[in-house]
Amino acid sequence: MREFLVAGNWKMNGSIAANGELVAGIAAGVPAGSGFSMLVCPPFPYLGSVGSALEGTAGKLGAQNVSEHAAGAYTGEVAPSMLKDLGCEYVIVGHSERRAMYGESSFQVAAKFQAAQGAGLTPILCVGETLEEREQGATENVVDFQLNAVLDAAGIGAFASAVVAYEPVWAIGTGVTATPEQAQEVHKHIRARLAEVDAGIAASTQILYGGSMKGENAAGLLTMPDIDGGLIGGASLKADDFLAIAAAAAQG
Ligand code: PEP
Repeated sequence: MREFLVAGNWKMNGSIAANGELVAGIAAGVPAGSGFSMLVCPPFPYLGSVGSALEGTAGKLGAQNVSEHAAGAYTGEVAPSMLKDLGCEYVIVGHSERRAMYGESSFQVAAKFQAAQGAGLTPILCVGETLEEREQGATENVVDFQLNAVLDAAGIGAFASAVVAYEPVWAIGTGVTATPEQAQEVHKHIRARLAEVDAGIAASTQILYGGSMKGENAAGLLTMPDIDGGLIGGASLKADDFLAIAAAAAQG
């Protein structure tokens, strides 16, 4: 009942020329009606041009971050309604790079999640533990804390139109991928945590894996019962690499 979502987080990479090539390459490899959704999340300045390039293709548009505020004196911030104006359907909230480098707390992430939904965007809520937390056996506690902040603020109903991404911090951009079993264990835990509140919503919520996913490891991860796609950083920057993951999703 859950479709795969293959989402590219371009982070702070790209240029008008490079983006054009990348989108054309991806679009050529993923025809409409492929049975899964494909999403790209470019940096803010390129949302308009990438959105135009995606028109008529199977690709969807998302952003990497959003303000929790609707409008006003917030220099440098981007409101949810602006993303909607530009054709975004999704927005990533709580990526570990934003939590670690920009001090975003789980409460601020919850506010962003709610603001995004208020504007009609689907938030992709990132959760995940550091290596130290994993080694201390705290993975489930960390993920629960990050999830609970959103559950408390927005309620379980909000997860009917949201995506969760399990992104172990130790796997992001490191080349070290969680094994399918390690990832499945946490995905299962996340779904069980949601099911404690509403089993129906938990069963339909897409939970993506993120952390050095690539063509070679995608199939193993995507065959796990609670892994519903990927949030992909490095491997989303080259059409062939991204398409190799998409091919695994198409078979999954
Ligand atoms: C990410 O930043 O969300 C991510 C998963 O990056 P990478 O695929 O490069 O590990």
